[in-house]
Amino acid sequence: HLSAQLPVPAIGVDVGGTLTKLVYFEPNDEDEPASEVEARVLKNIRRYLTKNSAYGKTGHRDIHLQMDNVEIHNKKGTLHFIRFPTAEMGSFLQLAKSKGMAKLLTTVCATGGGAFKFEEEFKREVNIRLKKFDELDALIKGILYADTQCKTECYYYENASDISLSQKARFDFSQPYPFILVNIGSGVSILAVRGANDYKRISGTSLGGGTFLGLCSLLTGCTTFEEAIQLATKGDHTKVDKLVRDIYGGDYERFGLPGSLVASSFGQMNSKERRVSVTREDLANATLVTITNNIGLIARMCAVNEKIDKVVFVGNFLRVNPISMKLLAFAMDYWSDHTLKALFLEHEGYFGCLGTILLT
Ligand code: ADP
Repeated sequence: HLSAQLPVPAIGVDVGGTLTKLVYFEPNDEDEPASEVEARVLKNIRRYLTKNSAYGKTGHRDIHLQMDNVEIHNKKGTLHFIRFPTAEMGSFLQLAKSKGMAKLLTTVCATGGGAFKFEEEFKREVNIRLKKFDELDALIKGILYADTQCKTECYYYENASDISLSQKARFDFSQPYPFILVNIGSGVSILAVRGANDYKRISGTSLGGGTFLGLCSLLTGCTTFEEAIQLATKGDHTKVDKLVRDIYGGDYERFGLPGSLVASSFGQMNSKERRVSVTREDLANATLVTITNNIGLIARMCAVNEKIDKVVFVGNFLRVNPISMKLLAFAMDYWSDHTLKALFLEHEGYFGCLGTILLT
C-alpha cells in the first residue's frame, strides 16, 4: 500500500558541520495506513512536525519556506523545512523516540558528514537506518528541483554596482547551465555545473560561515548567528580595515583602485589607539566583510577559469544576511566589468536535504 519509492512519511536530513537541515514531505492524500497503530503514529508525527514552528529550545521550522502543492515521485504534497544545531542531535533523537517515529520510520534519507558520523547513533537510539547520499549530488538535485517547482526561487540584485541602491529582483533560472555553485556553509565548496549530471568540485576554502561565526564570537562575545548579523548591520568595517586611501591618501589611480577599497582586512588593528576606539559592531561588520569578500574573490576566479558567467550562492551563511548577498553581488559585477552575475536562491541551506528525497 505504501509507495515503493517514497517512504511515508518521507524525511530527508542533511547533517552539516553546524546545522542539521530536515525536510518533511507531507502527501496531500495519504495512502491508507496498514494498521491502526501506524495511522496513529503517522498522525502524531504529522501533527508534531506541521503544527509547531519551534522544536525544543533550538529547532525551528522555516514556515516562510514551506512549499505547497509540489510533486515528488508522482505524489502531490507539501514540503516542510526544519533546522536545528547539529550539536543538539542527541536531544533531537530523544524527541524522535518520544514521538514514536522509530516505530514507523525504518529509513531516513540522509546526507552531509553527519550521515556518517551519526549513523550508529540513529541505529542504536531510534532504530532508524540512514540511506546515505553524496552531499554534492543531493545539493544539485535539490536546487534544480526547487527552481522548477517554485517560480520565485531564484533572484539577483538589481543595481548591484551601488550597494545603497541594490534591490532583490526575480531571475529566470529555467536555462541554468552552465553555472558556478558556491555553497557557503561552515566551510565553502565551489562547483562548476554544466548539466544535471555533469559537475565537478573545482575549489573550496575553509574560511566560511563557521569562520565568520567563530571569529565574531571571539571578537564580540556574541552567542548566536542572528546576534552576529545584527551587530554587523550596525557596524563600520572601515574603522577596522586599512583602506587604499589610508595608505595612498586617495585612489591608487594607476591601477584603477578606488580609495574606498579594503587594502588590508583588520589592518588598523595593530594600532592601540584604533583598537580602543573600535566597537563590537565595527568588529562584527569587519569580520563579515572580510569573509564575504574572500569568498567572492575565490568564486570570481573560479568563474573566470571555467569561463562561466552565472555564479549561484547558497548555504546558510546567507540566512538573514543581505549584507553579504549585496556585497557578493557588487563584487561579481564590479570586478568583472559587469560580465558576471551573482544569483541567490530562497531555500538557501535546504537543497541538500531536499535532494536526498528526490534521489531516493
Ligand atoms: P553546514 O552544513 O556546514 O552546517 P550550513 O549551510 O547549514 O552549513 O551553514 C552553516 C553556517 O550558517 C554557519 O557557519 C553560520 O555562518 C550560518 N548560520 C545561519 N543560521 C545559523 C544558526 N541559526 N546557527 C548557526 N549558524 C547559522
